[in-house]
Amino acid sequence: MNKRFRSLAIIVYILVCTLVSSASVIAVLLELRAPWLYIAVGASVCLGAAALYVFTATLMREDRSYHGADYAAMIDSITGGVLVLDGNERVYTVSEDARHYLDLPEYAIGMSRNEVIRDDELNRCIDLAKQGQSSLTEFTSHGTTLRVLIDPVIFSGQIVGTMMLLLDMGEQLTLEKLKREFAANVSHELKTPLTSIQGYAEMIATGLASKEDVPDFAERIQKESKRLLALISDIIRLSSLDEGAPESEREPIDMAEIADECRDVLLKSAEDHGVTLELDTESFVIEGSRSLLSEMIYNLVDNAIRYNVPGGSVLVTVKNGLVSVRDTGIGIPEEHREHVFERFYRVDKSRSKSTGGTGLGLAIVKHIAMKYGGRISLESEVGKGTEIKIAF
Ligand code: ADP
Repeated sequence: MNKRFRSLAIIVYILVCTLVSSASVIAVLLELRAPWLYIAVGASVCLGAAALYVFTATLMREDRSYHGADYAAMIDSITGGVLVLDGNERVYTVSEDARHYLDLPEYAIGMSRNEVIRDDELNRCIDLAKQGQSSLTEFTSHGTTLRVLIDPVIFSGQIVGTMMLLLDMGEQLTLEKLKREFAANVSHELKTPLTSIQGYAEMIATGLASKEDVPDFAERIQKESKRLLALISDIIRLSSLDEGAPESEREPIDMAEIADECRDVLLKSAEDHGVTLELDTESFVIEGSRSLLSEMIYNLVDNAIRYNVPGGSVLVTVKNGLVSVRDTGIGIPEEHREHVFERFYRVDKSRSKSTGGTGLGLAIVKHIAMKYGGRISLESEVGKGTEIKIAF
């Protein structure tokens, strides 16, 4: 039976009962001495009351189920968490996701604002919402950065509560943050060599530098320019990796061959540092870009030479889907190990700069390795050396 038909039937029944009761009352008033009339009065009043009770109870039950299970399912299916506080600052509605983000118990309905919102920024935004202002803010929960929209709930022109929408945009926000940091670092890193180039050039141009100083200043200008160029090409490389630029040059690459070429290029640098460079290779093939894979091995070997000690050694192993570069250099202290793959992170800034480092080498290595499904691992001991492995 549908709801409307049932309600109509009950209303008709109540009307009939009322009519019969009225007739009975009239009969009593007219002193018609018929006992069945008294019984009819009593029965009709009782039945009417019972029907009224059933009618309201049914409506209430339906009402409760609408605002209960169905309503909860609706709120839970919204992408993101929803929390509504009523005019008394008590939880009116809360979705499953919002309970998770705000660490609330299963029965959070009715809890006070102080119990559910413990973050200062969220509280500030709720205060603004109570004055009719909407706010957009960020909130970190369980390691996820959420974007939070807080609005006043307005009914008939009155603010009757506050509504909060918590959206999980973690990956996007982290990316935005990284980009902001990267842009700030890039300008700083570019400015430093340019400032010293400008300084030396100005001293030569204005005649402030003595004749004997000129060759030295010119050499410094040359060194800084070289570093600047290396930095710019690393930045361009990273940006194109970030963009996921289409790879025109994907082809089968023999990693042993790449390691061989790399040794040829870096042999002179190894000699200059007093470091021996050895290879242990067996051919294995990766489908990828020759220049990227070559840059990956080059950066690892270049670091192994630059962060080495005179008389030290570097061993490059390429076999069975594994690339490993092991050195007997200065090593990386434990607290720095998890950071060295971050952009512009350096353990020893002056050593990195004086050896032509850009602070981007390992970030590029990590990016390229990930691009081709490689898993990177690092083992190091201070004063003994470092080994970086990439398993494909
Ligand atoms: P950089 O251009 O400064 O060398 P990288 O991204 O290549 O930047 O490396 C980040 C930092 O990690 C370096 O500054 C250095 O402190 C450290 N590092 C990298 N490779 C080695 C290594 N083989 N031995 C010791 N320290 C290393």
